[in-house]
Amino acid sequence: MSDTRTSEQAAAARAGYRGRLAPSPTGYLHLGHARTFWVASERARSRGGTLVLRDEDLDPRRARAELAAAMLEDLRWLGITWQEGPDVGGPFAPYSQSGRRGFYLEAWARLVARGLIYPCACSRRDLARAAAAPHEGPHDPEDEPLYPGTCRPPAGAPPTSASRPAGLNWRFRVPDGEEIVFLDLRRGRQSFVAGRDFGDFVVWRRDDVPAYQLAVVVDDALMKITEVVRGEDLLKSAARQMLLQRALSLATPDYYHCRLVRGEAGARLAKRHDSLSLRALRAAGITPEQLRVRFARESE
Ligand code: GLU
Repeated sequence: MSDTRTSEQAAAARAGYRGRLAPSPTGYLHLGHARTFWVASERARSRGGTLVLRDEDLDPRRARAELAAAMLEDLRWLGITWQEGPDVGGPFAPYSQSGRRGFYLEAWARLVARGLIYPCACSRRDLARAAAAPHEGPHDPEDEPLYPGTCRPPAGAPPTSASRPAGLNWRFRVPDGEEIVFLDLRRGRQSFVAGRDFGDFVVWRRDDVPAYQLAVVVDDALMKITEVVRGEDLLKSAARQMLLQRALSLATPDYYHCRLVRGEAGARLAKRHDSLSLRALRAAGITPEQLRVRFARESE
């Protein structure tokens, strides 16, 4: 282990609690993001911890620099401060995912070498056709029909050669039937069964972009995050991420999944609900104090 790493680890140990805000610059932040980020910032503050702002501009087709700037401005307007981030720097820079590709490639190579991921030529249409039943259960933005295993090599097959031919997804082979149990700090005991609740999932995309699951696991570990606070639509993804952490010998942080803010009709808020974007609320004369009072009053 290098000296740098030792001193980084020592710094992290001294710092104790490390939380993160991980917005994607693909739209304006809305009320739901604001509430989740406010909860994250309160949890870090009350523990005397460090808050990291990570710009999740992973997807070059969807992320936009002006939205990243708007996201930081909106968070500052809300009164949230962070100690490390793309604007302020810090010991684990860069804090924008677009600058961290080397770390993701390294993790990809380790997974290939261990025979834990394989290339997959199936299109989304192939998968939709193969899906036996319509998907049910809580919405998970990362969900897709259970992968039917079309491209999965037989168990015990030697690792795939370590090149990334264009146009193929890379999937993580999940341990079918294994129950992944964890204690969510808000929701309590959670249990998901690999191969039943989710199947082999994509870690590297056919357009040569690392997938969310891989990037988030690598970054949370390298940035020494001790607690992940985010929306409860990602509960099931926590189970996927724990499998990746184990495969890569990385520590598992604590998880605190927040309740989602629902729109008028109970619909999940999406970035397209522009009327609830922080910008729109601000233009309508709502103050950050009003929002913070509202968040504090609502039970978690
Ligand atoms: N960038 C992700 C999002 O906007 C964050 C996911 C996470 O917190 O793990 O949904």
